[in-house]
Amino acid sequence: MKILKFGGTSVGSAERIKGLLDIVRPHERQIIVLSAVAGTTNALVEISQAFTEGNNSRAAQLITSLRDRYHGLIAELFSTEEGLQNGKELIDYHFNLIASFSSDLFTPVEEKIILAQGELISTTLFHFHLTELGIRSKLLPALDFMKIDEDNEPKIDFIRDQLNELLLQAADHNLFITQGYICRNAFGDIDNLRRGGSDYTASLIGAAIDAEEIQIWTDIDGMHNNDPRVVSGTRPISNLSFDEAAELAYFGAKILHPQSVFPAQRYNVPVRLLNTMNPQAPGTLINKEGAAKGVVRSIAAKDGITAIRIHSSRMLLAYGFLRRVFEVFERYKTPIDMITTSEVAISLTIDDTKYLVDIERELTDFGSVEIDRNQTIVCVVGDFALDTHGYASRVLDALKHLPVRMISYGGSDYNISVLVDTEHKVEALRSLHNRLF
Ligand code: ADP
Ligand code: ASP
Ligand code: MG
Repeated sequence: MKILKFGGTSVGSAERIKGLLDIVRPHERQIIVLSAVAGTTNALVEISQAFTEGNNSRAAQLITSLRDRYHGLIAELFSTEEGLQNGKELIDYHFNLIASFSSDLFTPVEEKIILAQGELISTTLFHFHLTELGIRSKLLPALDFMKIDEDNEPKIDFIRDQLNELLLQAADHNLFITQGYICRNAFGDIDNLRRGGSDYTASLIGAAIDAEEIQIWTDIDGMHNNDPRVVSGTRPISNLSFDEAAELAYFGAKILHPQSVFPAQRYNVPVRLLNTMNPQAPGTLINKEGAAKGVVRSIAAKDGITAIRIHSSRMLLAYGFLRRVFEVFERYKTPIDMITTSEVAISLTIDDTKYLVDIERELTDFGSVEIDRNQTIVCVVGDFALDTHGYASRVLDALKHLPVRMISYGGSDYNISVLVDTEHKVEALRSLHNRLF
């Protein structure tokens, strides 16, 4: 079985939704994972913000304009009275639900219910569209099988068991449709896999049922060798290893959700990145064998990073110091990305600043603490095994006109990372591109 995930732009209009049938093969067994229609999740985030801020009238305005957009979409999508009626009832059901909230008692639980509506709508619209064309499909409710634990980690055994059960119950179907992004958490409440999470859904499903292949259909012809949004002249990479793709996704290549490579890697399911607007393009194949020897593959950047430096003379010749520092981050469930140390100081980076105030307070027990926000990790991925040479100097040479805050090299065979102030990110990406490719 293949898993095909279509992102927001791939289902961004009635025309695009109809166009999916150029790619989806109704008679092959496939699970189709859909994102919300482009722009929907951003709009739902804004609606939730308005409720959180107590601004019910702004929320109502935003809801009306999103609802109108969907009425336009269904008018174009359906060609029969019955199809249109089904579409209208669907839109009414979901938008009445969204409009039933108010700023009173609006908590993260309500917010996550609102954020889930986009994927619930897009998948049902596609299912109704297929039904109108006489094509059989089965909706698999992600909220019945996609589950995360108290640490927000997916419960892969639960996902496997539930999904296999649902597939068994619908064994007479070939085409299955499910929602990306949404899930239930340890309390059984509606939750999500964070922004861009539909890629993660596809990878988790592929891993859980040992799929033949996971296809991520998006609006570009595969993983490029730099961020095409800020660097011109980037080109697609035909083959990447799981490790390389995981580094790029984790360090900011937006085409893949940061965690989405790990399940596929763990269960060795190949991932293909493909372009809905140009289905013939070869795209990028990510698999075990994908690495290329002795070359720089790609550059990515992750914004929103906070650097923390702890300076302590007690660190000198002491053992157990780093453990105590790391324990602070562990207590606040805050992952660390980059680390560099000297004899008397340690610098590290985090992107989740939810508990920064508490972390800072505890760290001051060890020494002085300096915090720099608005930092960006620029990550160069390639084959930097210990027997290669010259790469670090080329990276640093490309950045010699910029202030570099941290450098990380040697942690793995395929990553050189530097930390720069976000204001220098674009220049860093462009300069590295010119020097390395
Ligand atoms: P989808 O809605 O299909 O999930 P996304 O917007 O999440 O699509 O991801 C695709 C976008 O990722 C591309 O349009 C491109 O601008 C951006 N992107 C950033 N870095 C890269 C990269 N290295 N290679 C390809 N695309 C990238
Ligand atoms: N719709 C969600 C988002 O915009 C999930 C996704 O598109 O992958 O983040
Ligand atoms: Mg995405």
